[in-house]
Amino acid sequence: MSIVAVVGRPNVGKSTFFNRLIQRREAIVDAVSGVTRDRHYGKSDWNGKEFSLIDTGGYVKGSDDIFEAEIDKQVELAIDEADAIIFMVDVESGVTGMDQEVAKLLRRSKKPIFLAINKVDGASRMNAALEFYSLGFEYQYNLSSINGSGTGELLDDLVKALPDTEEPDDSELPRFAVVGRPNAGKSSFINALIGKDRYIVTDIAGTTRDSIDTKYDRFGFEFNLVDTAGIRKKSKVKEDLEFYSVMRSVRAIEHCDVIILVFDATRGFDGQVENIFWLAQRNNKGIVILANKWDLVEDKETSSVKDYEKYIRQQCEPFVDVPIVFVSVLTKQRIYKAIETAVEVYQNRSKKVKTSELNDVMLPIIQNYPPPAYKAKYVKIKFCTQLPTPYPSFAFFCNLPQYVKDPYKRFIENKLRENFDFSGVPITVYFRKK
Ligand code: GDP
Ligand code: GDP
Repeated sequence: MSIVAVVGRPNVGKSTFFNRLIQRREAIVDAVSGVTRDRHYGKSDWNGKEFSLIDTGGYVKGSDDIFEAEIDKQVELAIDEADAIIFMVDVESGVTGMDQEVAKLLRRSKKPIFLAINKVDGASRMNAALEFYSLGFEYQYNLSSINGSGTGELLDDLVKALPDTEEPDDSELPRFAVVGRPNAGKSSFINALIGKDRYIVTDIAGTTRDSIDTKYDRFGFEFNLVDTAGIRKKSKVKEDLEFYSVMRSVRAIEHCDVIILVFDATRGFDGQVENIFWLAQRNNKGIVILANKWDLVEDKETSSVKDYEKYIRQQCEPFVDVPIVFVSVLTKQRIYKAIETAVEVYQNRSKKVKTSELNDVMLPIIQNYPPPAYKAKYVKIKFCTQLPTPYPSFAFFCNLPQYVKDPYKRFIENKLRENFDFSGVPITVYFRKK
């Protein structure tokens, strides 16, 4: 899926615009030197073309002196990572020095740039917008993020400029994405599997590598390993490395079947790791968790794996039916077990339960424990079937689907998990009118 970045000074209206376009929002939060940047990411589509929209600046509000450095970083990120860039300016303030600075940086990039002149709420402001031609962009749009006018024209042209990101032709092969925070051990993991140092990590300015797919064969099972690891950007700033890796993860997650989520067990399953976990869950991807660097975890009494597992599952609630493998990439402990588990999760995700079998198992369970009556009305579930989606989803047909509440849906999900192995796979349960 294409990535579109929105850049511009604070207060020009980026978040207003963003909220108008996004159906579902994911916040990518990272704390940097006291400033919490809440970078927003979400999906949008226009004329049937889906894209991810990223507000690379997030909602930074601050004093003027942090602006310049912040904006430079924002623009650099956008140029490196996005397929197209929306550069937003504010007709109320006119062209500012900062706008000129951003324009200069953007003009050097080869990515398509769309200049969005915001807050043109009515015809009376059209004249003032002409001034922005001095910034020298071919594509220029007057719009109002508040009332929505002009956004359609911008989006029409934007989606035309986006590359056609059809899935690669080898998409028949299962795709496992190795994701996680920087230094979790992702590249070491892939190197250990492949048996050689495929990644030459350098700090030389300008070394950039996109995520690489490796065809891999194990247990007679072929798959693509999607790597997000070798990101060593020219960025001098540590926190941006984190953000790069999150952006890479976003892309890789959307394109894979199963994620192998590697985290450093000596550092814990923290908020950034959770972000990736939930992103995969919401995208209905299979998940295997690797607790890496287990060799460094001292005092491994017999109970410590259990305790650690419990701790991880607490962070994952309510989606706890996820395999966790304790590995040491360094000593190659259980790294093949990790791959075996990913293969199992892939198979669980592609599993199709026969309708007859599903009904034979589920209907007696439902009979013994029917949905609670609601407003003195009884819900009667008659029949269920698995839907033909790429990930497991089930429809239960009944008389009054609107009366089936979340706790009962969870009950049904748990029973599905108990009876058919869906370990590592998010499942969706619908109640439909029959
Ligand atoms: P950001 O810092 O770039 O994310 O800017 P915000 O989206 O927070 O907007 C800054 C201010 O501009 C808010 O008070 C918005 O209500 C206002 N604003 C945003 N878009 C428009 C617009 O199209 N017209 C007008 N008049 N105000 C707007
Ligand atoms: P990436 O940024 O996620 O690709 O992480 P790397 O693979 O570059 O690993 C980061 C650091 O952790 C390197 O110094 C590795 O040698 C080290 N490392 C990776 N896996 C292990 C492990 O299982 N045990 C120990 N002790 N160190 C590890």
